[in-house]
Amino acid sequence: MRILVTGGAGFIGSHLCERLLSQGHEVICLDNYFTGRKENIFHLMDDHRFELIRHDVTEPIFLEVDQIYNLACPASPVHYQFNPVKTVKTSVMGAINMLGLAKRVRARIFQASTSEVYGDPLIHPQTEDYWGNVNPIGLRSCYDEGKRIAETLFMDYHRQNGVDTRIVRIFNTYGPKMLENDGRVVSNFIVQALKGEELTIYGEGNQTRSFCYVDDLVEGFIRLMNAEAEDIHLPVNIGNPGEFTMNELAQEVGKAIGKDIKITHLPLPQDDPKQRKPNIERAQRLLGWQPTIPLAEGLKKTVEYFAKRI
Ligand code: NAD
Ligand code: UDP
Repeated sequence: MRILVTGGAGFIGSHLCERLLSQGHEVICLDNYFTGRKENIFHLMDDHRFELIRHDVTEPIFLEVDQIYNLACPASPVHYQFNPVKTVKTSVMGAINMLGLAKRVRARIFQASTSEVYGDPLIHPQTEDYWGNVNPIGLRSCYDEGKRIAETLFMDYHRQNGVDTRIVRIFNTYGPKMLENDGRVVSNFIVQALKGEELTIYGEGNQTRSFCYVDDLVEGFIRLMNAEAEDIHLPVNIGNPGEFTMNELAQEVGKAIGKDIKITHLPLPQDDPKQRKPNIERAQRLLGWQPTIPLAEGLKKTVEYFAKRI
């Protein structure tokens, strides 16, 4: 198949491009390099089945493809809050442009949604039928609400135009090829620990997240994209149900690096969700998917990557 990956030069997108090429597909990687980099996909450039397009998803594009993975959107709070209006445009106009393309060429299309659609969740663990607890006017809203509207558009293009859609709700994912200055917690802690700096825990560090290694996530993506079922168009959580406080994560990073770590506490950002853990029964039932890489193992692989870079 010929497959378009928007945001293909980013952290998750570059892993996805690599996997799709290894399965024998032609891959078109589309990116505006806001948070992505050519370095992530440089090793794929010699493959004649790999094509790179510098383009912004807020603008329409005409291509002939069989499948579209729509990943284009900054994912780290630091990056998506840098230009919040642009973040909304990327999610909303990006979804409209890609859904229009999918409709025109009858391609199957996949949306990288997020656990952020649950906001600061009052249901724990989060199941897909939970509508969420999102502040519509806060600093995180440009991302959370942009992703929620993208889900709405995917469902409406499916119901109204018969577009063959898939929606994944991704929980915190980590691994090699994250940016050193990404601002997300795993890369921050690893880079800080490797440099012998204090690990910056925001707030008391009792808030929880569930961390999925990128290879597990990409496996879930490909299974969902190619699965068939009556309710396959409804969102599917993909994440690792192992739940850690930020204090525990800091200790795990210390163990992975084999060093004593030092900690400093910084103020908790506005609207920081207190807890996050996926219920993955739907992914297990529809896709036979569950994560295989525990945090300790995934952190070791990620530490190796950052140790080479810094
Ligand atoms: P990332 O920032 O590394 O990748 C995003 C990519 O999209 C980058 O290459 C960036 O340059 C590109 N991009 C941004 N705006 C664009 C635009 N207007 N036009 C074209 N390209 C644009 O982030 P990631 O972690 O790889 O996330 C990929 C997707 O998965 C995002 O949609 C994100 O919201 C979603 N997601 C990620 C996580 C996670 O934990 N990593 C969690 C939930 C959802
Ligand atoms: N966090 C932290 N120190 C950091 C970066 C983040 O304690 O250096 C916390 C942050 O407040 C949040 C959690 O780690 O509670 C996850 O943050 P991240 O930005 O990685 O993802 P998100 O909040 O979007 O889930």
